[in-house]
Amino acid sequence: MVARVIPVETFDLVIFGATGDLARRKILPGLYRRRKEGQIPEGAKIIGAARSNLTIQEFREQVAAALKEFVGPAALDASLVTDFLDSLAYVTIDAKGTGGWDDLAAQIRPGVVRAFYFSVAPALFGDIAQRLHQRGIADRASRIVVEKPFGKDLETARTLNAALATYFHEDQIYRIDHYLGKETVQNLMAVRFANILFEPLWNAQFVDHVQITVAETVGVGGRGDYYDTSGAMRDMVQNHMMQLLCLIAMEPPHCFEPDAMRDEKLKVIRALDPLKPGEFVRGQYRSEGADDYLVEADNPNSRTESFIAMKLHVSNWRWKGTPFYLRTGKRMKARASEIAVTFKEPPHSIFGESNQWRENVLVIRLQPDEGMDLRVMIKEPGPGGMRLKDVALDMSFAEALGNDVDIPDAYERLIMDVIRGNQTLFMRGDEVEAAWAWVDPVIDGWEQREDAPEPYEPGSTGPEGALMLMHRDGRRWREIRNGTA
Ligand code: NAP
Repeated sequence: MVARVIPVETFDLVIFGATGDLARRKILPGLYRRRKEGQIPEGAKIIGAARSNLTIQEFREQVAAALKEFVGPAALDASLVTDFLDSLAYVTIDAKGTGGWDDLAAQIRPGVVRAFYFSVAPALFGDIAQRLHQRGIADRASRIVVEKPFGKDLETARTLNAALATYFHEDQIYRIDHYLGKETVQNLMAVRFANILFEPLWNAQFVDHVQITVAETVGVGGRGDYYDTSGAMRDMVQNHMMQLLCLIAMEPPHCFEPDAMRDEKLKVIRALDPLKPGEFVRGQYRSEGADDYLVEADNPNSRTESFIAMKLHVSNWRWKGTPFYLRTGKRMKARASEIAVTFKEPPHSIFGESNQWRENVLVIRLQPDEGMDLRVMIKEPGPGGMRLKDVALDMSFAEALGNDVDIPDAYERLIMDVIRGNQTLFMRGDEVEAAWAWVDPVIDGWEQREDAPEPYEPGSTGPEGALMLMHRDGRRWREIRNGTA
């Protein structure tokens, strides 16, 4: 089955930070792929902007190299690449200076959708917003896209929101959390809200617990100095994991529209109980070799966590009594992100003690192999009595939709949504602030106590304490395996 592509309107998209890592790896290759799929019309124009003094030819060479590296040979078509490069423009601009803004204004056309992607450090968001507004480059219909991190605590997030709100309305601001652009994450909403099957069971009466895991095999590497000022709580939990939790726990919105969705997500964050000591475990990967956090972060005294596991309570009628366990870490055993909803035992077994009952689990795999499976009990085939066995009903997209289905990268979908003016998969300012308001006191607590994270071996499943967090509740973490449930 080939995905249906609905072309977007013609646009001018300005990418601030067009020479940077994110633009090279994700934004520009993603735009090329959408153009190849016929979603981007020929008249669309992409304008790179950065401080580097490049000619248009030099910028196109940089982009050509990025496409070669990140698009993959199968999708690279020489004439399409040429067309794509021809649709690019470049302006040298300093976000904090005065030069280049008139050149940018001259590139912008009237009568087409205008979007500005801020793929630069958040410290520059306010400067760019101000100049776009004051020079009349952005109008009331323009959209701006901002990247994470959106602040490092509630105060900085509020300052950023206020800086953007000075020049743009909330309906113009697209705060990216690329997890929301993943096909499976949207499928989670389809499974929950387009089927009658799960919704009656989707509550504390039938769900024993939920596990959300985001495990990475990479360490902090070259980003060590940045990461050391952040840590897993700020880098992963406050944004990506909190969003996943919201999608699992939210009430059905009355329609699939931005504010309806975001109102419901916000209620989940506000219903979270404060996290108490004993309900979380912080870890740091340590080794005698080069894969030691302290070496990579270049900070022998670092108390920053590269791993965190926690038990959350959503205090509302639907979820009171069902814990949500979250864990995320770097240099783990495998790269796997998944959400697992574990259902409760049937009230009575008619098959006797000899049949080992296993719980029904709905597993939503986010990466690397996007898909879902549902573990159910069936009869083991063959004669020899009624023996039960648990099997996975695999709902992997490749299987269900045919192997040639092309799942677009999250960035591709999200950028197309910006052009369409659809904010459903973007975070609203109050959501981001509510997430920080929950996270801040937890971080303040461990900073005041000068808590040291528990060491764990690189390539492991995290510190011992994380296992104990589950064992104390008579549960265990799901195995972390490459992309499989
Ligand atoms: P990066 O590689 O350091 O690139 C930064 C870009 O900003 C460069 O193009 C740089 O170009 C430009 N820039 C810096 N100062 C400027 C100024 N004063 N005026 C105009 N342009 C300026 O950073 P990145 O990794 O691409 O990240 C960009 C943003 O996305 C950051 O907020 C980051 O946190 C976020 N993000 C990145 C990733 C990722 O995978 N890379 C993932 C999630 C979020 P010149 O040096 O030529 O000016």
